[in-house]
Amino acid sequence: MTKVMIVGAGGVGGVVAHKCAQVASVFSEVVLASRTVAKCDAIAKQVEAKTGVKMRTVQVDADNVPEMVALLKKEAPKLVINVALPYQDLHIMDACLEAGVHYLDTANYEPLDTAKFEYHWQWAYQDKFEQAGLMALLGSGFDPGATNMFTAYIAKHYFDEIHELDIIDVNGGDHGYPFATNFNPEINIREVTAECRHWENGEFVTTDAMSKSAKFTCPDSVGTFDIYRMYHEELESLTKHFPTLKRAQFWMSFSQNYLNHLEVLGNVGMTGIEPVEFNGQSIVPIQFLRQLLPDPASLGPRTKGKTCIGCVVRGIKDGKEKIVYLYNICDHQECYAEVESQAISYTTGVPAMIGAKMMLEGKWMKPGVWNMEQLDPDPFMEDMNKHGLPWKVIELDSFSLEK
Ligand code: NDP
Repeated sequence: MTKVMIVGAGGVGGVVAHKCAQVASVFSEVVLASRTVAKCDAIAKQVEAKTGVKMRTVQVDADNVPEMVALLKKEAPKLVINVALPYQDLHIMDACLEAGVHYLDTANYEPLDTAKFEYHWQWAYQDKFEQAGLMALLGSGFDPGATNMFTAYIAKHYFDEIHELDIIDVNGGDHGYPFATNFNPEINIREVTAECRHWENGEFVTTDAMSKSAKFTCPDSVGTFDIYRMYHEELESLTKHFPTLKRAQFWMSFSQNYLNHLEVLGNVGMTGIEPVEFNGQSIVPIQFLRQLLPDPASLGPRTKGKTCIGCVVRGIKDGKEKIVYLYNICDHQECYAEVESQAISYTTGVPAMIGAKMMLEGKWMKPGVWNMEQLDPDPFMEDMNKHGLPWKVIELDSFSLEK
């Protein structure tokens, strides 16, 4: 019997719940916990209707460590799958340490008042987790998550040494709204408006947000898209764990319409993360904006099209240079038919379930705090094919994202 607790009942939490229910041989009992229990109840109802699996639900404020510890001690799950927001990461890690529960998340800890996307706060827990005999798996979503695995898999099977990495995240989906984000709007907008950092010759180089773009044609007729270089948290861990990398960049596709909206919102101050006084109340503009935008969990039925996310790696094998591209293509409507979600939450929730499965099956379980690429990619990649995110790998004759 292996009991897990999913914390967070947003778009990603819903997918993780469905996917755990599909693998009941590993996840024999699942408790759904979140700030708004009605959202857990709605997910539990959907999961039961689709799979027949019943899940209990419970209200918790994960930022309240004593409350979280009491819940974990009462429920005694083996693992917490944290798919609340990055602000909760350290609080949930503290609670897991106190209650003796393993931990997994899909995004690095973020302080509320600064957009950083850095791992050092969580890496600082290495000794505590190791001494407690507990494991914390960081960033088990798609990017970070699957992209770390793709890089590790390519490095393991195709190269003696890897030199250049381009992670390319294309969302060719259309939800029909003038402006909406595909996952938590606050985190999404923080990420996109942050200045760009990429790895070049042993250090991170900073450039203005969205200042470098290129055209990228996805394989398998997904289409050609404008992609923009931006900072993404897996660059920090991948350049640390693959020190032979001379250059590492992350690219994401955006429509001109999305960028125009974002520019205007930024210009009028709506994407700010500093509190402002309004009618005697302190309001954080980006949190107010989040309130106005469509809930990402509601985009499922409306979103059509495909995502194509993958890694292009250049390196050396047997003294010769080569280029390998490993990618997954995911169809928004197929995801909706399976788990009532669009592909962004789906592509995050499936690797979260698989990461948890790797831990619970003992394939990855070891005390300490780990990024994905520090673990064997093979069993994870095998499970991606089995659980809804099949991937392909091809060798390219040439590759350039220079305009
Ligand atoms: P949502 O905003 O849809 O859901 C977040 C959930 O967390 C909500 O149910 C929210 O509760 C709950 N929550 C927030 N604060 C607390 C708290 N203090 N205690 C308990 N529950 C809380 O976000 P998403 O589902 O889109 O994203 C979930 C996570 O996945 C985020 O960390 C995001 O960064 C990450 N992510 C990772 C990706 C990857 O590829 N690695 C891609 C996409 C997302 P309430 O309903 O009350 O607001």
